[in-house]
Amino acid sequence: MGATSQEQVHVQDKLFIDGRFVDALAGATVEVRNPHDGSLLAEVAEARAADVDLAVEAAQRAFSAWSAATSAADRGRLLGRLADAIEDHADELARLESTDTGHPLKDTTLLDVPRTAATFRYFAGMADKFEGSVVPVDAGFLNYVRPEPVGVVGQIVPWNFPLMFTSWKLGPALAAGNTVVMKPSELVPLSTLRVCELIDEVGFPAGVVNVVPGYGHDAGARIAEHPGIGKVSFTGSTRTGRSIVQASAGNLKRLQLELGGKGANVVFDDADLDAAVNGSAFAIFHNQGQACIAGSRLLLHEAIAGEFLDRFLALARSIRVGDPLAPGTEMGPLTSPEHRDRVLAYVKVATDEGGAVLCGGTEPEDPALAGGCYVLPTVVAAGPAARVCQEEVFGPFVTVTTFTTDDEAIAIANGTEYGLGGGVWTRDLGRAHRAAGAFRAGMVWINCYKRVSPGSPFGGVGHSGHGREMGFEAMRGYTEPKSVWVNVDADIPAWYPRG
Ligand code: NAD
Repeated sequence: MGATSQEQVHVQDKLFIDGRFVDALAGATVEVRNPHDGSLLAEVAEARAADVDLAVEAAQRAFSAWSAATSAADRGRLLGRLADAIEDHADELARLESTDTGHPLKDTTLLDVPRTAATFRYFAGMADKFEGSVVPVDAGFLNYVRPEPVGVVGQIVPWNFPLMFTSWKLGPALAAGNTVVMKPSELVPLSTLRVCELIDEVGFPAGVVNVVPGYGHDAGARIAEHPGIGKVSFTGSTRTGRSIVQASAGNLKRLQLELGGKGANVVFDDADLDAAVNGSAFAIFHNQGQACIAGSRLLLHEAIAGEFLDRFLALARSIRVGDPLAPGTEMGPLTSPEHRDRVLAYVKVATDEGGAVLCGGTEPEDPALAGGCYVLPTVVAAGPAARVCQEEVFGPFVTVTTFTTDDEAIAIANGTEYGLGGGVWTRDLGRAHRAAGAFRAGMVWINCYKRVSPGSPFGGVGHSGHGREMGFEAMRGYTEPKSVWVNVDADIPAWYPRG
């Protein structure tokens, strides 16, 4: 018998500061609810500014031992043990993540948990392989560059992939020798707190990782402004990104911003339609469309638009929407009732501007799903300037627009303020690479969509942010290059030669 959302999950409900699980100073808590049925999962301690201050102090105390006294190999070894622990607890973590976020268990089992372990393992290996350099300078001098950790870093995380983001953010920061204060979203803190228990079990020193779930306007804002934090890595909306830029100005923090997206997914007339239909459905409907890199704008060459849409709509209508823990579920609920209502409100925005709803646009009728945060897979025909083609909906909501020339497709694809990811489907190699070059985006997928890997830089341009996660780019982002000059020739005067 398959599991259902009624099953209990192990829950850690306290803040993790200085290696201990503690109540919030003010004693406040946040209710965490199951998006499948609204039931209460936990009342989690709510960090506020004063708790963040304690976490920063703990991270400052832990910094010199972690960055200097602990070898890079030992930091890597601990990250490797954490990857092993994630795998050892894979089933439990998948169930916890599905229960808290609404991701179907199939997805958390096959994607979220393995990707989390793989990313920790990638940065475990990176820790003692990220080298400095020697610069060819004037004779008589040696110049070498040491990549040094930034110090205490703040990491602010959204609610769409909370488990995976622990590894994307903690992996490179810890490998590079930083200590961390992380704030998960107040909506879905459970998997991050469970990872804290594993961090403790595998032997990370106290204070190296501190986790303070709480609201953005309080705990998040304190991280953004805190004078003891040297860098903030933020993933979330463009609007919040802007307020973090302003709040961080006091001590001129380094910022890495992974913000919103409005991915264009372009299907040319020579595309393999079977692959394009399937890939385009994954691009938007995976994780209920709650992905910054979702292919939320489908651009179809008018020669294949009719046939493509027939197949795509049939597929969208056949997606099995239901309890995330039930076997066979392909799309679960959105993560909160507020977000469900926001996504549904965009249906009216679309029709008010003359858009046509081709499928979905409502909650499911199934009484078993009443009270959950469900929205059916939604496809809307709309022109490129429509609000639904410009604003991030962040749900199972895709717009369809047709084009006739390659230049027109690229102009539409680049016609939003965002620049995160985009895709092209074509059998013509030259066309594919021309389009990839012309996209104003941080990531492009050719005949696939939403592929990510711990080694491949992830991030955007324009209003999608700046800086990159993953790979060597992430390690560079968590280090400061220190240039050291050595006079290796005693005959070279320290001052300019005098008469
Ligand atoms: P959000 O911006 O509302 O919140 C993100 C995080 O910031 C949460 O932890 C929140 O508590 C915190 N926060 C809110 N206000 C804050 C403030 N004033 N100061 C500091 N922190 C604050 O975003 P969300 O609704 O949780 O997530 C959805 C958004 O995240 C979408 O726009 C999506 O595109 C984006 N996202 C981007 C990426 C990427 O890599 N580019 C990945 C996933 C999600």
